[in-house]
Amino acid sequence: MKALFEGLFTVFKHLFMKPVTLEYPEKKPEIPDAFRGKPVVKGCIGCGICQKVCPSGAISIVKTMQGEVISYVIDAKKCIFCGNCEYYCPKDAIQMTKDYELASEDKNDLKFTYRGGEDD
Ligand code: SF4
Ligand code: SF4
Repeated sequence: MKALFEGLFTVFKHLFMKPVTLEYPEKKPEIPDAFRGKPVVKGCIGCGICQKVCPSGAISIVKTMQGEVISYVIDAKKCIFCGNCEYYCPKDAIQMTKDYELASEDKNDLKFTYRGGEDD
Protein backbone atom coordinates (compact mmCIF):
# COMPACT_ATOMS: atom_id res chain seq x y z
CA MET A 1 0.00 0.00 0.00
CA LYS A 2 2.83 2.37 0.94
CA ALA A 3 4.54 1.75 -2.42
CA LEU A 4 1.27 2.51 -4.27
CA PHE A 5 0.94 5.91 -2.59
CA GLU A 6 4.59 6.69 -3.22
CA GLY A 7 4.06 5.89 -6.92
CA LEU A 8 0.92 8.06 -7.11
CA PHE A 9 2.71 10.90 -5.33
CA THR A 10 5.55 10.72 -7.88
CA VAL A 11 3.07 10.80 -10.79
CA PHE A 12 1.21 13.85 -9.41
CA LYS A 13 4.45 15.64 -8.62
CA HIS A 14 5.61 15.27 -12.24
CA LEU A 15 2.28 16.52 -13.61
CA PHE A 16 3.24 20.04 -12.53
CA MET A 17 6.90 19.92 -13.53
CA LYS A 18 8.36 21.26 -16.78
CA PRO A 19 9.03 18.37 -19.24
CA VAL A 20 12.70 17.50 -19.75
CA THR A 21 12.14 16.06 -23.22
CA LEU A 22 11.15 17.69 -26.53
CA GLU A 23 8.55 16.48 -29.03
CA TYR A 24 11.21 15.94 -31.68
CA PRO A 25 11.10 16.39 -34.67
CA GLU A 26 8.20 18.88 -34.36
CA LYS A 27 10.18 20.81 -31.74
CA LYS A 28 13.91 21.24 -32.15
CA PRO A 29 16.49 21.89 -29.44
CA GLU A 30 18.48 25.11 -29.34
CA ILE A 31 21.95 24.31 -30.64
CA PRO A 32 24.90 25.98 -28.88
CA ASP A 33 27.35 28.01 -31.01
CA ALA A 34 30.25 25.68 -30.17
CA PHE A 35 28.35 22.64 -31.50
CA ARG A 36 30.23 20.66 -34.16
CA GLY A 37 27.84 19.22 -36.75
CA LYS A 38 28.16 18.57 -40.47
CA PRO A 39 31.41 20.03 -41.86
CA VAL A 40 30.80 22.23 -44.93
CA VAL A 41 33.56 23.19 -47.37
CA LYS A 42 33.78 26.36 -49.45
CA GLY A 43 36.82 28.00 -51.02
CA CYS A 44 39.22 25.07 -50.59
CA ILE A 45 42.67 25.48 -52.21
CA GLY A 46 43.60 21.81 -51.80
CA CYS A 47 46.61 22.27 -49.51
CA GLY A 48 45.83 18.96 -47.78
CA ILE A 49 46.44 20.14 -44.19
CA CYS A 50 42.96 19.03 -43.09
CA GLN A 51 43.67 15.56 -44.47
CA LYS A 52 46.86 15.33 -42.40
CA VAL A 53 45.21 16.43 -39.14
CA CYS A 54 42.06 14.34 -39.53
CA PRO A 55 42.44 11.56 -36.92
CA SER A 56 40.03 9.18 -38.63
CA GLY A 57 41.03 9.53 -42.29
CA ALA A 58 37.59 10.84 -43.24
CA ILE A 59 38.78 13.34 -45.87
CA SER A 60 39.66 12.55 -49.50
CA ILE A 61 40.75 15.21 -51.96
CA VAL A 62 41.10 14.65 -55.70
CA LYS A 63 43.22 17.22 -57.53
CA THR A 64 44.41 17.84 -61.07
CA MET A 65 48.15 17.69 -61.89
CA GLN A 66 48.15 21.47 -61.50
CA GLY A 67 46.80 21.15 -57.95
CA GLU A 68 43.26 22.31 -58.73
CA VAL A 69 40.63 20.68 -56.50
CA ILE A 70 38.30 18.40 -58.48
CA SER A 71 36.43 16.96 -55.55
CA TYR A 72 36.60 17.09 -51.79
CA VAL A 73 34.80 14.36 -49.84
CA ILE A 74 34.16 13.98 -46.12
CA ASP A 75 32.96 10.52 -45.14
CA ALA A 76 30.52 11.01 -42.27
CA LYS A 77 30.78 7.30 -41.40
CA LYS A 78 34.38 7.94 -40.36
CA CYS A 79 34.16 11.55 -39.16
CA ILE A 80 34.19 11.94 -35.37
CA PHE A 81 33.28 15.66 -35.58
CA CYS A 82 36.42 16.68 -33.70
CA GLY A 83 36.74 19.97 -35.62
CA ASN A 84 40.50 19.59 -36.34
CA CYS A 85 39.95 20.26 -40.05
CA GLU A 86 38.16 23.54 -39.31
CA TYR A 87 40.76 24.60 -36.74
CA TYR A 88 43.83 23.98 -38.92
CA CYS A 89 42.51 25.11 -42.34
CA PRO A 90 44.61 28.16 -43.34
CA LYS A 91 41.80 29.49 -45.60
CA ASP A 92 38.87 29.02 -43.20
CA ALA A 93 37.38 26.87 -45.94
CA ILE A 94 35.75 24.37 -43.54
CA GLN A 95 32.96 25.28 -41.17
CA MET A 96 31.51 22.89 -38.61
CA THR A 97 27.79 23.69 -38.89
CA LYS A 98 24.92 23.12 -36.48
CA ASP A 99 23.42 20.49 -38.79
CA TYR A 100 23.06 17.28 -36.76
CA GLU A 101 20.24 15.58 -38.69
CA LEU A 102 22.49 13.34 -40.76
CA ALA A 103 20.78 9.96 -40.39
CA SER A 104 20.08 8.16 -43.66
CA GLU A 105 19.05 4.73 -44.90
CA ASP A 106 21.45 5.10 -47.84
CA LYS A 107 25.12 5.08 -46.83
CA ASN A 108 25.99 7.01 -50.01
CA ASP A 109 24.23 10.02 -48.46
CA LEU A 110 26.88 9.95 -45.74
CA LYS A 111 29.61 11.14 -48.09
CA PHE A 112 29.57 14.92 -48.26
CA THR A 113 30.99 15.81 -51.67
CA TYR A 114 32.17 19.27 -52.69
CA ARG A 115 33.10 19.68 -56.36
CA GLY A 116 35.94 22.06 -57.13
CA GLY A 117 36.24 22.84 -53.42
CA GLU A 118 32.67 24.24 -53.28
CA ASP A 119 29.32 22.91 -52.12
CA ASP A 120 28.03 20.15 -54.43
S1 SF4 B 1 35.77 16.86 -37.97
FE1 SF4 B 1 37.61 15.68 -37.37
S2 SF4 B 1 37.16 13.59 -38.03
FE2 SF4 B 1 35.69 14.94 -39.10
S3 SF4 B 1 36.64 15.38 -41.06
FE3 SF4 B 1 37.23 17.04 -39.66
S4 SF4 B 1 39.21 16.39 -38.77
FE4 SF4 B 1 38.25 14.59 -39.71
S1 SF4 C 1 39.80 22.58 -46.63
FE1 SF4 C 1 41.41 24.00 -45.95
S2 SF4 C 1 43.03 22.70 -45.04
FE2 SF4 C 1 41.68 21.38 -46.26
S3 SF4 C 1 42.70 21.23 -48.25
FE3 SF4 C 1 41.16 22.89 -48.38
S4 SF4 C 1 42.25 24.76 -47.88
FE4 SF4 C 1 43.56 23.05 -47.21
